[in-house]
Amino acid sequence: MSDRLLALSSNSTARSLAKSLGVPLPPRLERDTGPWRDLPLAGRRIVVWTGEGAGSTALSAALAESLPRLGGDVAVAAGEVAAFEAAGQAWARPPRPLAENERPAALVFDASGITDVAALQQLWSALSPQVRGLLASGRVLVLSRPPRGLPLRAAAAQRSLEGFVRSLAKELGRTGATAQLVEVPHGAEDRIGAVLAFLLSPRSTYVSGQAWRISTLLPAAFTPSRPLDGRRALVTGAARGIGAATARALAREGARVIVHDHPGAEAEAREVAAELHGDVLLADLGDEEGLQRLVGDPRLEALDVLVQNAGITRDRTLARMSAEEWDLLMRVNLEAPLRLAETLGERLRSGGAMVCLSSIGGIAGNMGQTNYAASKAGIIGMVESAAEGYASRGVAVSAIAPGFIETRMSAAIPFATREVARRIANLSQGGLPEDVAEVVTFLASPSGRALSGSVLRVCGGNLIGA
Ligand code: NAD
Repeated sequence: MSDRLLALSSNSTARSLAKSLGVPLPPRLERDTGPWRDLPLAGRRIVVWTGEGAGSTALSAALAESLPRLGGDVAVAAGEVAAFEAAGQAWARPPRPLAENERPAALVFDASGITDVAALQQLWSALSPQVRGLLASGRVLVLSRPPRGLPLRAAAAQRSLEGFVRSLAKELGRTGATAQLVEVPHGAEDRIGAVLAFLLSPRSTYVSGQAWRISTLLPAAFTPSRPLDGRRALVTGAARGIGAATARALAREGARVIVHDHPGAEAEAREVAAELHGDVLLADLGDEEGLQRLVGDPRLEALDVLVQNAGITRDRTLARMSAEEWDLLMRVNLEAPLRLAETLGERLRSGGAMVCLSSIGGIAGNMGQTNYAASKAGIIGMVESAAEGYASRGVAVSAIAPGFIETRMSAAIPFATREVARRIANLSQGGLPEDVAEVVTFLASPSGRALSGSVLRVCGGNLIGA
């Protein structure tokens, strides 16, 4: 379903007219949906604050080592210049100051050492003069430590960073820029590069106002090109929408993809599979026979990536909802994913990943979606429970909670509600299936293992949600 306001914003006359009338048009977002590259941050000017002036030296070494390695062109605004000089020389990309009027693509502030209220002021003094100059679709990242277990004042200071970032993301959204918190526990510093490669690149387009909590469950490393070479992946509900985009992105990065869908979507599933030189598997996840056929398929004996994407809505207020609407939705959205986790998930090969589609409705609830929200919150429970157990077998598990994504599912939403859902996002538009697919692909890759156990919202900073 097309977004007319967004279409208008690509026309310069319409843009000037809208500006003169004071009508805000959604920004055009920068997107990278091409193959992963060795230097994902090539040509991107990144201003960094670390060490003294930012409050911490703890993460400087990791930042200094990873940004130039990923191709970033760094300007050190405050902190450990020597560390950046040494690492930058090694990659032939030494830091250089920002020229007058030069506009950076990203601002990275290491706030992990901030332990009191007074030091929080550094966020303001560093970022306030810079945010206006950030390029459209730019990025602001604030690095922090998990507040839990810290002394009173330090815990408060670290937790306040999340509120800061979520608000800044709302202010930046009208230019297509985003802001995120990256929470780094002690012992996980070596995973920062893998996460920055994604978050600072135009692949994290529709992720805004998020806290990315790096986990220590599994080691993770940035794997530049074709990170999924030789992997076998199953994507459920891959005939269209987010599933089809995910199948394409996984195949682009080297995976051999099995395109699953309902038998009623056979023609579309075959089309997607033919395009990817993949296989087709047809099975109705809403019935027992279909589930058994899927689980027993010999092609799934050896699997590396399981993307649990298939899902349905049956929206109605609880008072009016029929038992059939409740039951069918629960079978497809929660019972089937649990069965696939218990069977296929349990035999994923070491180095593999299971990524499950939840929804912001499962986090925040939604009018007319008691059944859907319950099923999607159930997915979060499943993922959080599975993450630790699977880690002992070297398998990553995570969930994605999309906001409003432009697919056939969201096209069924009444017009007025759909318009509201688009405009309340920080980025004042819906996301594309490709935006979610890029995050799934990241989570399925060796880099994404840094986020095992996470629930990541891909919602453009939707107002709805925790
Ligand atoms: P979609 O309706 O476009 O695609 C869903 C796919 O699942 C279809 O190909 C469909 O045939 C398949 N499917 C449905 N029931 C099935 C069954 N019984 N057996 C086998 N396959 C079945 O939806 P989408 O928007 O691409 O959503 C994909 C996932 O993302 C879903 O889990 C959805 O709940 C979630 N999600 C979507 C949005 C959004 O705004 N589009 C927001 C939050 C979460």
